[in-house]
Amino acid sequence: MTRTAPSTASGAQPGPDRDHPAAVVLDGVHKRYGDTHAVDGVSLTVPCGEFFGLVGPNGAGKTTLVEIMEGQRKADSGTVNVLGGSPWPRNAALLPRLGVQTQSSAFFVRLTAREHLRTVAALYRTDDAAAERALASVGLTEHGDTRVGDLSGGRRQRLAIASALVHEPELIFLDEPTAALDPQARRDLWHVLRELKGEGRTIIYTTHHLDEAEALCDRVAIIVDGSIAALDSPARLIAGSNPTTRLLIPPGRLDAARAREIDGVDRVTEEPDALVLETLESGRVLSTIDQLIGLQGVQTRTASLEDVYLTLTGANNGPPQP
Ligand code: ADP
Repeated sequence: MTRTAPSTASGAQPGPDRDHPAAVVLDGVHKRYGDTHAVDGVSLTVPCGEFFGLVGPNGAGKTTLVEIMEGQRKADSGTVNVLGGSPWPRNAALLPRLGVQTQSSAFFVRLTAREHLRTVAALYRTDDAAAERALASVGLTEHGDTRVGDLSGGRRQRLAIASALVHEPELIFLDEPTAALDPQARRDLWHVLRELKGEGRTIIYTTHHLDEAEALCDRVAIIVDGSIAALDSPARLIAGSNPTTRLLIPPGRLDAARAREIDGVDRVTEEPDALVLETLESGRVLSTIDQLIGLQGVQTRTASLEDVYLTLTGANNGPPQP
């Protein structure tokens, strides 16, 4: 698949929309570090209330882009509008409206979770009730009296998110909050993140987990070499990529030569655990397989966001990305 231009139909182009005021509008944003073109002409609009994902290989420019939106870095050129204003030069009125969780979120480890949040709340000149609401919104109320240093990794990440929420920001930047979490803790955090979205907040979410982007994000921008390689809802990105379905048949059930004769089968490969049939007409092919050998044990695999990502980043065509 070739790289696609950002989709216009999905609102990828900049410009306010009367029905959906924009939380972020970037237009032609560039940023260089010496010879490195870290952000190379990015234009996008994130409507208020959207859960917006940023994915891409290391070095693609995601952090730089997010830091430009947060007002931590100045774009070399292009326009940056966040919640109706420019985040640069330092915009003191904007800061309380933004929440930022980073990989290196700082904690007061000797305090309890509740004391930590009350301290953060005081820094934002808000009150203990706000700290309590933030604690509850990430499901940590019953662990409020646990010292931060004694919290599990998953609960600490929730606390990092609560710290970014305590002043009730409209726009939240989350940077890989599920990194280093076990699968159960990840799923628990997904639940917390869905609830945040349910509260109507706008979330800009950087992740390396494609399944997570697929499950959580309304739209995802795949960033490659400082540019948007694709931007759309996960479902549309997947639908627009590889429509091939893979049917996996347990070994010994169907002869490869016979499988190649089935109408609608484009390709057959013999893998150690399965005979794999690729088709654009899964319904028709499944019906034939049903007649020939029955469907027991036959598995169906359609494309995922990870397949789209690997194709766009070139990882399907060469050595793995760092
Ligand atoms: P990502 O977050 O996708 O990993 P970054 O925005 O961190 O990407 O980096 C994009 C490119 O810019 C990389 O080539 C990186 O080495 C370079 N870069 C990032 N920050 C700096 C900096 N402060 N000085 C010089 N180069 C930088």
